[in-house]
Amino acid sequence: MICDNFDDIYEIVSQARKYTKDGKVADYIPALGEADPNNLAVAMFDGNGTCLSAGNVEETFTLQSVSKVLSLALALLDNGAEKVFTRVGMEPTGDPFNSIAKLESLKPSKPLNPMINAGALAVTNMIAGAGTEDKLGRLLEFIHDLTGNTSITYNEKVATSEFETADLNRALCYFMRQHGGIDGGVEELMDLYTKQCAIEMDCEDLSKIGYVLANEGVDPVSQREIIPLHIARIVKTFMVTCGMYNASGEFAIRVGIPAKSGVSGGILGAVPHKLGIGIYGPALDEKGNSIAGMKLLETLSSRFDLSMF
Ligand code: GLU
Repeated sequence: MICDNFDDIYEIVSQARKYTKDGKVADYIPALGEADPNNLAVAMFDGNGTCLSAGNVEETFTLQSVSKVLSLALALLDNGAEKVFTRVGMEPTGDPFNSIAKLESLKPSKPLNPMINAGALAVTNMIAGAGTEDKLGRLLEFIHDLTGNTSITYNEKVATSEFETADLNRALCYFMRQHGGIDGGVEELMDLYTKQCAIEMDCEDLSKIGYVLANEGVDPVSQREIIPLHIARIVKTFMVTCGMYNASGEFAIRVGIPAKSGVSGGILGAVPHKLGIGIYGPALDEKGNSIAGMKLLETLSSRFDLSMF
């Protein structure tokens, strides 16, 4: 283990926890507003069967935007990169995750990348399956493979709460359908997308997903390739360039770990060839990243020399 000293990690978490009071829990999805802003947890997995964790590790949380990494990997597996990138771009955007602005200003209209909502909706629309249940089932199965935890499912209350209030995401879908960027019914896509975002786990599960990505898509126990190398690379590259909203550049400099955050306060980290990291801290900064989670990652990165750069 890069760090096998629990006391060190415990201390890093308690130092970082101080920052939770400077953040705010997301409440534009009403059910997310119920989270306790003081929570902070980290798990680190190095593929050897032991997972080092500290803080409120018993807490589960919904993936929200962290799920975009997983739907992208599955859509790439289902369709191949060439097809996926006809509908979504590869460039970062300095805009907020839910912005509609560039969909209108760019010609032809195409979401800039799969980590913003418009791009993620276009990607989820490409997951193969007979209907919402089948597609969601395939995504969950993929996650069961990545984590080894077959009990992972979605949180119905959070999914419904988002489905009932997701007018902005609906607007993105209608706009894209008009321009040929998505197919089929918008309500069905919103149903699938909100359930995908509501997939729930703890930070230990998240660290295991991070490890498979860090390990070039290979499961450390069975040595089975769950994600082909070229897809794991694409996904990790997006995590570096666009994973932390419009703070991705600063995060790359300060932390240097491919990572993806979500408005629930989860952060997935994949330190190439070394470590998977799962973080939960629902108090967010103004850009939508876990405020204490970012501090925690910054300290871990400098203490254990985790930057890939
Ligand atoms: N389900 C959320 C939304 O689409 C995810 C946003 C996020 O975590 O950034 O608004």
